[in-house]
Amino acid sequence: MAAALLLLLSACAGAPSREPAHPGAPPASRPSLGPVPTRPGITARPGAVVASPSDVTGTRFIRVLLSGGTSEVVLRGETIRAWSADGRLAAEAAGRATLAAVGERIRWNGSRLLGDTLDVAGAPDLRVGTREGTGRVRILARKGELFAVAVVPQEAYVAAVLSREAPPRFHPEALAALAVAVRTYAVGAAAKPRDPAYDVVGSVEDQVFDGMDGVAAVFREAADRTRGLVVRYRGEIARTVYHSTCGGRTEDAGSAWGKDIPYLRAQFCDDCADSPVYRWEYRMSETEGRRVAKALGVPPGKDLRIAVTGRTPTGRASRVRISSGGVYRELQAAEFRREAGYAKIRSRKMEIVPVAGEWRITGEGWGHGVGMCQFGANGMARRGAGYREILLRYYPGTKITGETP
Ligand SMILES: [Zn+2]
Repeated sequence: MAAALLLLLSACAGAPSREPAHPGAPPASRPSLGPVPTRPGITARPGAVVASPSDVTGTRFIRVLLSGGTSEVVLRGETIRAWSADGRLAAEAAGRATLAAVGERIRWNGSRLLGDTLDVAGAPDLRVGTREGTGRVRILARKGELFAVAVVPQEAYVAAVLSREAPPRFHPEALAALAVAVRTYAVGAAAKPRDPAYDVVGSVEDQVFDGMDGVAAVFREAADRTRGLVVRYRGEIARTVYHSTCGGRTEDAGSAWGKDIPYLRAQFCDDCADSPVYRWEYRMSETEGRRVAKALGVPPGKDLRIAVTGRTPTGRASRVRISSGGVYRELQAAEFRREAGYAKIRSRKMEIVPVAGEWRITGEGWGHGVGMCQFGANGMARRGAGYREILLRYYPGTKITGETP
């Protein structure tokens, strides 16, 4: 879901290849951590003088997977403290701690062998890998691999995600609408966690979370203004997916993912025309076309052809046919797009035209097109719409309520 896109980043620097996860999307190749005994959040430990952004009573936490399946995790902080699963202080370090998995146990700084679960905090803050300001982190050892899960206060998570999923120059009402979508996604995920050990992945699989350091005030204000608000459909938490730019019309969830969702139906959108990816073009070279064909199971010869052979009602490609030398394969357009690269083929709203041995691919919008169009939301806000109006346009039939309806 949610995911969105990136956004803009597009406009700015080299946009990372990114495609949002979505309802029903399998957690990629991520292995389940299995039945890990977990507590709902890491509670403050007696004697923990480590600063933490929130030991406030009643604060809700989102468990965000920062890294998984690695053999080692490096933690940095002036003071680092770790508690075992039973709440006892298990280890301390200054500056840096390197954790390694040894079967179902965690080796601390190359020496002591601890249990399979550690709750870690740092003062004044904790840095995990390249992420700064992660708050408290749970480290789990499973079959020789380590998993790092940040336990983040919900509203801090909303602001931090917003800072990566939306540009700061967006109108405050558009940012507020996105904040509600980000929070709704997280609350829905926490109600049905991806894994017993975490609620969401801190990447495009769910929503990008790079820590809470350096989150600009505009994002914190958008989260604050909408604190606790979520989108519901008939009382249930809605799947508030979003994307960068729809290119003129959003997509039906049914067309994109094969599952109809009443409030994720195609909407005309004339507010995203100033998006830098409203229209785009990508020249696929002969070399790249041959690579993609080969990767998708068609040995490329001199007569390699790539063509759109099916479209959804909103004009997005649904099927792509690759053929050469009497061999052909017809596949989901999404599969073609994934192989070619999400940042090159920015949406399935595209035409593929062979030109002198290459392919000229022109398209509209960026992302899956389902749910809220971020640039459309910004366009609406600039025309004077409030965040509620924006949300109800892209998620028609829903209601905006507190977390407890
Ligand atoms: Zn749009």
